[in-house]
Amino acid sequence: MFATIKTPTGREYEQPLGLFINGEWVAAKEGQTFEVINPTNEEVITSVQEATEPDVDAAVAAARAAFEGEWSDVTPTNRGKMMMKLAELMEENIELLTEVESLDNGKNLNQARFDIQSAAGCIRYYGGWADKIHGKVIDTQPGTFNFTKSEPIGVCGQIIPWNFPMLMWAWKIGPAIATGNTIVLKTAEQTPLSALVAATLINKAGFPKGVINIISGLGKTAGAAISSHMGIDKVAFTGSTATGRTIMKSAADSNLKKVTLELGGKSPNIIFNDADIDHAVDWANLGIFFNHGQTCCAGSRIYVQEGIYDEFVAKFKERITKNVVGDPFDNSTFQGPQVSQLQFDRIMSYIEHGKAEGATVECGGERHGDKGYFIKPTIFSNVTMDMKIMQEEIFGPVASIAKFKTVEEIAKIGNGTPYGLAAAVHTKDLNTALQLTDKLKAGTIWVNCYNMLHYALPFGGFKESGIGRELGKEALSNYLQVKTVAINMGGHNVFIGK
Ligand code: NAP
Ligand code: MG
Repeated sequence: MFATIKTPTGREYEQPLGLFINGEWVAAKEGQTFEVINPTNEEVITSVQEATEPDVDAAVAAARAAFEGEWSDVTPTNRGKMMMKLAELMEENIELLTEVESLDNGKNLNQARFDIQSAAGCIRYYGGWADKIHGKVIDTQPGTFNFTKSEPIGVCGQIIPWNFPMLMWAWKIGPAIATGNTIVLKTAEQTPLSALVAATLINKAGFPKGVINIISGLGKTAGAAISSHMGIDKVAFTGSTATGRTIMKSAADSNLKKVTLELGGKSPNIIFNDADIDHAVDWANLGIFFNHGQTCCAGSRIYVQEGIYDEFVAKFKERITKNVVGDPFDNSTFQGPQVSQLQFDRIMSYIEHGKAEGATVECGGERHGDKGYFIKPTIFSNVTMDMKIMQEEIFGPVASIAKFKTVEEIAKIGNGTPYGLAAAVHTKDLNTALQLTDKLKAGTIWVNCYNMLHYALPFGGFKESGIGRELGKEALSNYLQVKTVAINMGGHNVFIGK
């Protein structure tokens, strides 16, 4: 159930391949496995056990037993301590987790290390919340005593994507465990490895068996079994809007499990004439090309006010020539490969659409090299609002740029897609910034920066970008249900409230 894997740095480690259910490594009941591909060279790294419905059933049974049993006796303080310990163990293993993440996902080592550090930070942050969750006393009338309790929901199914494997693992586990739930988490089929390595730390951190179950598997089988499971009380999902819809439907058709969704985006990055143009260029670069454009909040629609449009496009083009594309294990690399052949093909097809629809290719627009899923950073200018590349989530290193004139016009254009995950405004004028933060319908608005995420700041979508908020105190409510207790202290007339 383990394979010895050698990373490109020469590090040898034991990669778990099994399903982590009830605190143990087990084989898939139906005997299936699937291959894990290295996106840098398209070679098979290893094969992992593939969970199907019977494995999901076993994981749910383990999570239920833990929820009703040992986990319910653990004090909030001790829950917090276990989470702090898990965060510490993640930090102790940061170099291993970083290399596994780069190997499987293709992100560069610096970026992967940053992800693991933030993942550990997130688990620690939520560990701090574990003993700060409480209800209220609510006065209604004499002769009564009323209070609320914030209780965990129960067994939670969590389905995560491949763009930030460890970070999404932490964003999901943190608030669910801090609030006293138990979980069955399915990783993305493209990137199962780092979560399995991190699962080896769960027992060491002291969690009782069955509290955190981690399975590898496919969306259409294991994922569907989670979202339709009668024994799962809540499902949390991050991924595409299309899959989010499917999950919500199957939650509705099964046991009306609670649903939170963190979905796609087509976020506007708005740059005014008075912005510090060099800073705006740097932020626009990070906004779209960070993580190879595989970021739900990517600043994929860049709008530049007409006075600086030509200068901006020239400087932006110049700036991205410095983005080194190549091997994620090379320290000079900024952009590694896209995660899979499927994603590579999807992105290339959007690029072809952009060309066919008449947008100007300022640079890129083709694959990089002849092996691995590499795409050159691509800028399209003169993109109109109706073009596919301005409306749909590409999820790759492709920026679409257009010109605007006024605050009123850009507020309307900024809100002109079904998404509403994020937006950014670059200006030195506080009034302009605040006017737009009012008008833009997005869950996060950055001013003079981009992609500034932190586990203490709530994150999530307006419109079709999602339901609920992850991170911060807000995420706790996704995993809690309120119970009201109303007590008659002995009077006879308390039923008819005044
Ligand atoms: P996806 O289908 O949304 O996958 C995300 C997760 O959902 C994976 O774990 C996936 O399993 C699972 N899943 C798929 N179908 C399911 C189903 N019917 N029931 C339950 N779970 C299911 O995303 P994708 O196909 O990998 O990527 C497609 C597009 O989604 C991208 O181009 C991008 O636009 C968007 N996306 C957005 C985010 C984000 O952070 N918001 C992340 C990833 C992708 P498998 O691994 O087997 O597919
Ligand atoms: Mg892979």
